[in-house]
Amino acid sequence: MSKPRKPLILVCNDDGIFSQGIKALAEVADEFGDVAIIAPDRQQSAVGHAITVSTPLRARPFRIDGRFDGQAVSGTPADSVKLAHNQLLDRKPDLVVSGINHGSNAGINILYSGTVSAATEGTILGYPSIAVSCTDFDEEADLTGCQDAARKVIGYVLNHGLPRGVTLNLNAPSGPLKGIKWARQANSRYVEEFEGRVDPHNRNYYWMTGKFQLLDEDEKNDISILEKGYASLTPIQYDLTAYSLLNDLREIEL
Ligand code: MN
Repeated sequence: MSKPRKPLILVCNDDGIFSQGIKALAEVADEFGDVAIIAPDRQQSAVGHAITVSTPLRARPFRIDGRFDGQAVSGTPADSVKLAHNQLLDRKPDLVVSGINHGSNAGINILYSGTVSAATEGTILGYPSIAVSCTDFDEEADLTGCQDAARKVIGYVLNHGLPRGVTLNLNAPSGPLKGIKWARQANSRYVEEFEGRVDPHNRNYYWMTGKFQLLDEDEKNDISILEKGYASLTPIQYDLTAYSLLNDLREIEL
């Protein structure tokens, strides 16, 4: 009898294939199976679920640490996962993981995040998918606690799978792991503030400097849990229908 094949884990991110975070996540994925890193060839943070439709996509082979075979894609995180699924992988992945992002993807950040969108794209394509982010933006942050959290969640998902249409969004502080708690996405927003300046040609330009606002009072939200030093784990979905309203709205004739 042939040995059962090791699971294939597709690793993506939005900080680009050169980031420390993707290497840290690939190391954890490597403990569970074969690793394929297919990720943007440059920084793509906050591109959300953008896809490339009017320019060609290119992928070039890339080796990380002389250890992981990867492909650097000239597109967005969602492009990378689509291209991996469609063209670049010789077998279907058993799991898609995205990260470790340098910066939190809790609260409203989930919506802007390329890291989360790579995982969501995995879910759309029918693969169990997890997004992993560290609340610390520093490239040199201690990611060992994030890796420990990712290890627990990857182990769980490989054993139990995930319901169709559901992605897991994991955030963890830098440093040692204090524990993982299930969380709601915090009700939060940015108060957008722009700094207006003038360029050397005397034209105005603007730089976004949004301030984050937590609007949640229930402390079971992801941001409050992270503030207490725990990792937060939130099941999220790409079906954006407001089901709580839909039945009532159907009564209204338009
Ligand atoms: Mn990022």
